Amino acid sequence: MSKILIFAEQRGGELHPAVRQLLTAAREIDGGAEITFCLVGAGLTTLASELGKYGVAGVVAVDDPKLERYRPQPYTGALAAAIDKVQPNLVLLPATFMGRDLAPRVAARCNAALATDCVEARLDGDALIVKRPAYIGKATAELKLAGDRLKVVSIRPNTFAAADAAADAQDGASANIEALDFTLDASDEKLINRELVGTTSGVKDVTEADIVVSGGRSLKSEENFKIIYDLAKVLDAAVGASRAACDAGYQPHSRQVGLTGKTVTPKLYMAFGIDGAIQHLAGMRGSKVIVAINTKKEAPIFNVATYGCVADLFVMAPLLVEEFKKVLAK
Ligand SMILES: Cc1cc2nc3c(=O)[nH]c(=O)nc-3n(C[C@H](O)[C@H](O)[C@H](O)COP(=O)(O)OP(=O)(O)OC[C@H]3O[C@@H](n4cnc5c(N)ncnc54)[C@H](O)[C@@H]3O)c2cc1C
Repeated sequence: MSKILIFAEQRGGELHPAVRQLLTAAREIDGGAEITFCLVGAGLTTLASELGKYGVAGVVAVDDPKLERYRPQPYTGALAAAIDKVQPNLVLLPATFMGRDLAPRVAARCNAALATDCVEARLDGDALIVKRPAYIGKATAELKLAGDRLKVVSIRPNTFAAADAAADAQDGASANIEALDFTLDASDEKLINRELVGTTSGVKDVTEADIVVSGGRSLKSEENFKIIYDLAKVLDAAVGASRAACDAGYQPHSRQVGLTGKTVTPKLYMAFGIDGAIQHLAGMRGSKVIVAINTKKEAPIFNVATYGCVADLFVMAPLLVEEFKKVLAK
């Protein structure tokens, strides 16, 4: 039987939504696998027992006040210690900012095979076959990770459905929860300055929302972005923007979607007045459903759109707000 260790990313005791998707991925890769969660952070008791109800074999928690916030070296050491303890064949991480930083470090530390940002994974005998986008999403690479060594794989958020925690917990299962002793290396303590940037309070981050509503340069001003925020509020969505809109100062760069911004894979991506330059598509073409609103019917965004609407965004956005309010009774 194979062993799979899932890095259960959390911040402030709140589990990242992609972790439950990793549980689905692990079960699809090997239905008979022994699955263990690894938690790293501070004050993890409640979260560890919650994860223990997900029908897994165990939870390993590295709980230390010094691990309250993510830092690459200590988290690498903590996850490597959990790998040493559990001896898995496969380690799964979410391809979030934290997972993207952590996966290569842990793979190097543990001399493991590495595949990042994967959208598919299946077993072929002992080997693992994964697929990952290449050339900014224009091609898909298939990689075979040999069965005779540890494999570290990060999975792109929203490519697997989230495991149903309530259903998993029905049998009253409670996994073995183990606190792992881990001594921080003094040389790891290198935090010099910490600055929290970019998040407008109360507004979701584009990488963590199921729905992203984005605006482009054609919004013409920061004030005009209010219609995008109004729609995002009704849909419980995050607000994104093209680089042109961010460079013009209409939105902070933390909301930029694309090659030099953030990669998003929501269930629904709505692009208002965004042309669809290749650099923008690189960050959103993995979205499940894409809706484009643009006055120019030749705009390249329509080539990737599931639904396209040739219309003025200043007319369409307020109309959609009113209609969604009725439909969603908000
Ligand atoms: C190295 C590099 C990296 C880059 N990285 C990124 C990146 O990460 N993200 C990114 O987005 N871009 C990136 N770019 C920039 C990219 O090439 C485009 O310039 C940018 O995406 C254009 O933004 P836009 O679509 O908002 O603006 P425009 O190209 O100006 O397009 C505006 C669109 O709005 C439409 N429009 C106008 N008025 C209305 C209206 N009233 N209603 C509806 N539609 C309307 C127009 O028809 C047009 O299609 C990068 C470029 C380079 C060179």
